[in-house]
Amino acid sequence: MLRDVHMPPRSPISGALSTERLDHSDPLLFEFRARVSAHAELEGKPSLLLDRTAFYPESGGQMADHGRLGGLEVLDVQVDGDGALHHVVAGALPAVGSEVVGQVDGVRRRVHMALHTGQHMLSRALLDIARAETVSARLGETSCTIDVDLAEMAERDVARAEDLANAVIDDDVVIRSFFPEPEELARLPLRREPKVSDHVRIVQIGEFDWTPCGGTHCLRSAQVGLIHVIGVERYKGGTRVTFGAGRRAREQLAGESSVLRRLAEQFSSGTRDVPAAVEKLRRELDAARDALGQARARLAQRAADEMMEAARAAGSPWVIGAIDDARAELLRAVAKRVTEESSMVALLAGCDDDGIPVVVARGRESAFDCGAFLKRAAQAAGGRGGGRPERAEGRMPAGIDWPSLVRTLIDAEVTKKGG
Ligand SMILES: [Zn+2]
Repeated sequence: MLRDVHMPPRSPISGALSTERLDHSDPLLFEFRARVSAHAELEGKPSLLLDRTAFYPESGGQMADHGRLGGLEVLDVQVDGDGALHHVVAGALPAVGSEVVGQVDGVRRRVHMALHTGQHMLSRALLDIARAETVSARLGETSCTIDVDLAEMAERDVARAEDLANAVIDDDVVIRSFFPEPEELARLPLRREPKVSDHVRIVQIGEFDWTPCGGTHCLRSAQVGLIHVIGVERYKGGTRVTFGAGRRAREQLAGESSVLRRLAEQFSSGTRDVPAAVEKLRRELDAARDALGQARARLAQRAADEMMEAARAAGSPWVIGAIDDARAELLRAVAKRVTEESSMVALLAGCDDDGIPVVVARGRESAFDCGAFLKRAAQAAGGRGGGRPERAEGRMPAGIDWPSLVRTLIDAEVTKKGG
């Protein structure tokens, strides 16, 4: 499900089920102590409710933290419809009232923080450079996207926005999260309006961007490390920008670089020469295809001439042939040549990976019904095929003797007509 990145989290509910959010004040707190306030269930899976937590629940487009809680693996963290914060765990639950140690998977969290902060920066840069407003954003396990309201976006503008966001990383500006008073909030140049009216949390990136958000973010822009745009495409009347940040971006770039190096090795060239090497290969392939086409045409001509010669010598209109290794294209070419002679009928078989392709075609003055004939041939041999009286195509099972099948059927027809 797509959720908006800038949807602030629900306010903690009062009473026994409220959970103090330690991640709000310190996004780098990866180990904490807490008391179990209740055992619960989320979609049929056992969960723990705590008096305080540093685990980030999935919300606002940011994925849930993983880690360990009281020695148990934390599989998911979610806030339910009543505002209760569930830690879905596997194993025997520690007693209500007992103290547990929580350990947030710091590598995973840092990736999420970099992606989330990178998303704020790239959204701001796209707005500043191209007046493209972010409609929604998604930070997934494998890909992250920003959808903007601009139907047309020049690649050059996206590259400039990427540059601008990376320049803010280089500047290593402070990123702070705070809850401003209404008067201060009204003065802030927010990138977009908050979705709640009170207790609005603002994430400020230097003097670059102010956005209402409840997610976890880096504390300084340099912690984002790198923002890398992977793709730009049209999407639902707007534009979708796919990107990576931090460790995710480094892994993506390393993966692409490794593919490029392997390609360069194949071409015995430098990585920068790969496009030229591919282009050369394409030209050579085109030339080879042309040469193959010409050779095929010459072969078809020769095969047709030989078979027609034999038919003429026998005073017969039937040009019957099985051509070794001929694919359907070659058969069509031979049939075309044969049927230029208006009284002749071509009854041709070839051979390819899937069996025996067959083509039956008649010259302009012949009254032979190619479609009906091929249907009978297919019935007799267990193949398939059919077509118009003028020409028909089909396929016979491997191993059949096409010339004798054709002769048998033609003889039967002539006998029937004669009798
Ligand atoms: Zn955010």
